[in-house]
Amino acid sequence: DLFYRLLPKVELHAHLNGSVSSETMETLIKRKPHLNIEHSMTAIRRGQRRSLDECFQVFKVIHQLVDSEEDILMVAKAVIQEFAADGVKYLELRSTPREVTETGLTKQRYIETVLEAIRQCKQEEVDIDVRFIVAVDRRHGPLVAMETVKLAEDFLLSSDGVVVGLDLSGDPTVGHGKDLLSALEKAKNCGLKLALHLSEVPSQREESELLLNLPPDRIGHGTFLHPEFGGSDSLVDKVCKQNIPIEMCLTSNVKGQTVPSYDKHHFQYWYKRGHPCVLCKITRCLFLLFLLFRQTDDKGVFCTDLSQEYQLAASTFGLTQEAVWMLSQQAIGYTFAPEPIKQRLEKKWAELKQQIL
Ligand code: IMP
Repeated sequence: DLFYRLLPKVELHAHLNGSVSSETMETLIKRKPHLNIEHSMTAIRRGQRRSLDECFQVFKVIHQLVDSEEDILMVAKAVIQEFAADGVKYLELRSTPREVTETGLTKQRYIETVLEAIRQCKQEEVDIDVRFIVAVDRRHGPLVAMETVKLAEDFLLSSDGVVVGLDLSGDPTVGHGKDLLSALEKAKNCGLKLALHLSEVPSQREESELLLNLPPDRIGHGTFLHPEFGGSDSLVDKVCKQNIPIEMCLTSNVKGQTVPSYDKHHFQYWYKRGHPCVLCKITRCLFLLFLLFRQTDDKGVFCTDLSQEYQLAASTFGLTQEAVWMLSQQAIGYTFAPEPIKQRLEKKWAELKQQIL
């Protein structure tokens, strides 16, 4: 529907390597035929893992495909351009810095290369403001987390406002947040905004209690925070009292099977309470899984952009176009952008509203 394409949008939950389009994937696979990607993917298909695990397996494959500065530059530029083409006017991209000995990639260069992609897109006048969130992969433990925070802190000071925060992500069934608490506290104290994946699986209740005390500046998913989903009133209270915005990825959660169906998505629970919610795009991992198996690349099967997520939310929960507009406009307030940028975005929304709504 044209309205959703034209709607100016804010995207706050985009993992760089989870946002690679099928076109870019094809290019990467062609560049590295020696990886024999289909073979490694078949091994996953034979395994008896749940979908969430399969998602994280897919990232291992993508990381093999994206392992040099050249790859990162290409992927980041393509992702930014694709978001812009979908009407996203402000994007906070996040990614876990990696080092790869064979290609000489260091974590420092990893971040610098993403920043270079952002700079080039700006120079090419792509109509989107992009900021970067440095991600901590919980699987790598407290030492790596602390190292990553130090790196992020350096870039917070030197990137001219492009690096804005720190993310905590990775397989939610691995590790415990208590081990990462001091790294997260350090990040917060030095001025990095915190976007933490919380309660993605039911077993994270105790961890969420702990991490909510920081408190985070935004929550990723938060699927199992509320009591109907196995969370608790105390968790909901903490989130509400501190008014912490929640990043919601409808399709990602339904396809990843952490939520049974769209109409049961926790978006409804929080939205009805008037709690700050921001709709975000699917992580494309499941889409990629299918692409790599060559079973389908049907865009109709998997929702592939933010416009469709808004449309889905509207049709599932009966939102009017005015309500959808409000949802996208309110997201400006939940960004980690400095005040003048927020004001610029508000102005842009106001101008476009007259033309679109
Ligand atoms: P990257 O950080 O750009 O390499 O993006 C892929 C990484 O994002 C994965 O290896 C995970 O650590 C993280 N990630 C992507 N989707 C999810 C999710 O749904 N939950 C938690 N972590 C995720």
